[in-house]
Amino acid sequence: MPTELRPLGVTCNIQCHYCYQNAQREAGNMGGNYDISKMLQTVDQVGMEFTLFGGEPLLLPLEDLERIWAWGKERFGKNSVQTNGTLITKEHIDLFKKYNVTVGISIDGDGELNDVRWCGNLEKTRTATSKTMSNIELLCESGIYPGIIVTLHRFNASKSRLPRLLLWLECLDELELKSCRVHLLEVETPMQRQLLALTADENIQSLLELYRLERELHHLKFDIFQEMRALLLGLDNKTTCIWNACDPMTTRAVQGVEGDGTMSNCGRVNKDGVDFSKASEQGYERYIGLYYASQEKNGCNGCRFFLMCKGQCPGTAIDNDWRNRSEQCSIWMRLFEEIESDLITQGYNPLSQHAVRAILERYLVQEWTKGANPNLLRLFLHSSATSYEREVMHAYLVENNISHKWSQGKLAHLDHHWEGE
Ligand code: SF4
Ligand code: SF4
Repeated sequence: MPTELRPLGVTCNIQCHYCYQNAQREAGNMGGNYDISKMLQTVDQVGMEFTLFGGEPLLLPLEDLERIWAWGKERFGKNSVQTNGTLITKEHIDLFKKYNVTVGISIDGDGELNDVRWCGNLEKTRTATSKTMSNIELLCESGIYPGIIVTLHRFNASKSRLPRLLLWLECLDELELKSCRVHLLEVETPMQRQLLALTADENIQSLLELYRLERELHHLKFDIFQEMRALLLGLDNKTTCIWNACDPMTTRAVQGVEGDGTMSNCGRVNKDGVDFSKASEQGYERYIGLYYASQEKNGCNGCRFFLMCKGQCPGTAIDNDWRNRSEQCSIWMRLFEEIESDLITQGYNPLSQHAVRAILERYLVQEWTKGANPNLLRLFLHSSATSYEREVMHAYLVENNISHKWSQGKLAHLDHHWEGE
């Protein structure tokens, strides 16, 4: 995952009602002063490519954008930006092309579907939405196909609005957009829950409809379903942070760099409006706790999808308490069941149904207690595996015809490891 470069902190030109950064705004911790040299020095030390992030990063003057992206292209060969898309101009598009900038746009649909991404009054909000849509088209005409992030809520995915959302996604497919990330609403306050949140059943219905729609589309993919499918097969090396035992004290996947060059965590775990300092080491207490705690006590014990889901993002934990599993549990569980069932129909024997699951779970928890968080491939290489366990692992790989998905190097390593035992 790239570093998030946040020169303007959470400063934004619009005021989405559900934004997970609102706690920071309400606490007066907006940010906004920046020193490009200091920020780039920190990025250089982190050594990972970065995404220009906000708030709204295109509030930066063009000359500052150019300075940052010129450095990014020189250092990493490419750049990326995550924007609400309202401020994009021809000049920005020229910079995107010149400095190899991948563009991500956050929008929840056209017209009324996007009204929660509020601009002060309804007229301005609809105008901004139209601007974002025309900018998406402009980008496509320029040969830049933005990735889209959509958050599901009552204004775009309630029973009456879902058909329109599906139609809009079909339009994006016709524009030949390739990637759409779907977020469930992260509920921070009782008011948000009352006004904006879908029920668990509505969320499930919406996701199932999107899952069905994806099969009819020609270009657009919802990466969440591809990740869940990969996870169920144990191919977890390219999945995103929400499935990977994120420590809320360090949020490994999100290395924020603020305007003064200091490091910060992912805003989704910031529930108090304060950017607490990053912990220097990762810990997996949350995940060990969730593995052993019963589901009645907000844990995940006994869930056959634990190896894949791990209690999900700590930013969505029940009661905003990272020790608990995600409050979206029932939604993800239903989706895992659906995709698991499809895999079985296609002749696979997914991890969730296989005897290998218990072995891998035991080794994963063991690794967490030692402060490590290996992906599943490394668990297949676990040095403590008995000959019986190796047999089960081998059977799993063969039954699912998975070996060929691993790189030759990794596979050779596995063979060598087993032969050497
Ligand atoms: S808090 Fe959630 S969204 Fe943020 S890095 Fe962790 S898993 Fe990812
Ligand atoms: S589906 Fe629910 S119980 Fe299962 S691992 Fe995920 S959060 Fe935990």
